[in-house]
Amino acid sequence: RVVLLSAELIDLFGVQCILNIINDITERKRLENEFISLVSHELRTPLTSLMGSLDLLGTGQLGTLSAKGQQVLNIATTNTERLIRLINDILDLERMKSGKIPMQPVKCNVADLIDQAVAAMQAMAERAQITLLTEVVAAELIADPDRILQTLTNLLSNAIKFSEPGGTVWLRVRRSHEVQIEVQDCGRGIPANKLQTIFERFQQVDVSDSRKKGGTGLGLAICRKIVEQHHGKIWVESVLGQGSTFHVILPSSEYGCE
Ligand code: ADP
Repeated sequence: RVVLLSAELIDLFGVQCILNIINDITERKRLENEFISLVSHELRTPLTSLMGSLDLLGTGQLGTLSAKGQQVLNIATTNTERLIRLINDILDLERMKSGKIPMQPVKCNVADLIDQAVAAMQAMAERAQITLLTEVVAAELIADPDRILQTLTNLLSNAIKFSEPGGTVWLRVRRSHEVQIEVQDCGRGIPANKLQTIFERFQQVDVSDSRKKGGTGLGLAICRKIVEQHHGKIWVESVLGQGSTFHVILPSSEYGCE
């Protein structure tokens, strides 16, 4: 059918015309990729600097803020974090399209990674009135620490976002011959027919999630890619209305990542 179609197309347009169309598409794709990458980089630099200024305001070194001032600062911080995350996700997505996310594997202490992930998410958890608890056993991995941290913070950020104020999110590490990590929340849960699809790009349980909760449906697709490049597995178990547990299994030290 493809051969027939090609022959029909060649008859209709001629070889040169078809080659020109293919060249045009390739060139447009290249320009599109270049544009996305340029815009993302150009946006990331000023946003990172903005985040630094907001952090400084939050420390109180420039004077104490009123309660209203603190509230405004929290909103500005949340939205700046959201934009930085979105830009980083778009950049990762570009890299994923062209194959693999670049990894720099080193020997990592899993407990240190867990501490860093919790420290990174503590402010968001406090703003959402969520308690973060950990249960960790000693383990080591050959992995890219920044990418594992990215996976953990993304899972924690989702767990916080989809929990009610007053809730608890657990981050657990177990060990057998592999390192098993769990992020468990007692939030709204995920319907059975979405348990697989949410790991695909731009997939969300509800179309309103993007507007109401912030996010783009890219995070879990990136997590999956990172975990797979570490020769691991990621999946979720959930009961609607009761909560979700995201599982990550990473082979221990000797395997590493690609
Ligand atoms: P984002 O959170 O940016 O929308 P993700 O890829 O991280 O993108 O998640 C995709 C979707 O999966 C979310 O929009 C949400 O609908 C659903 N989801 C992810 N984590 C949870 C969770 N812990 N509880 C309920 N739903 C979740």
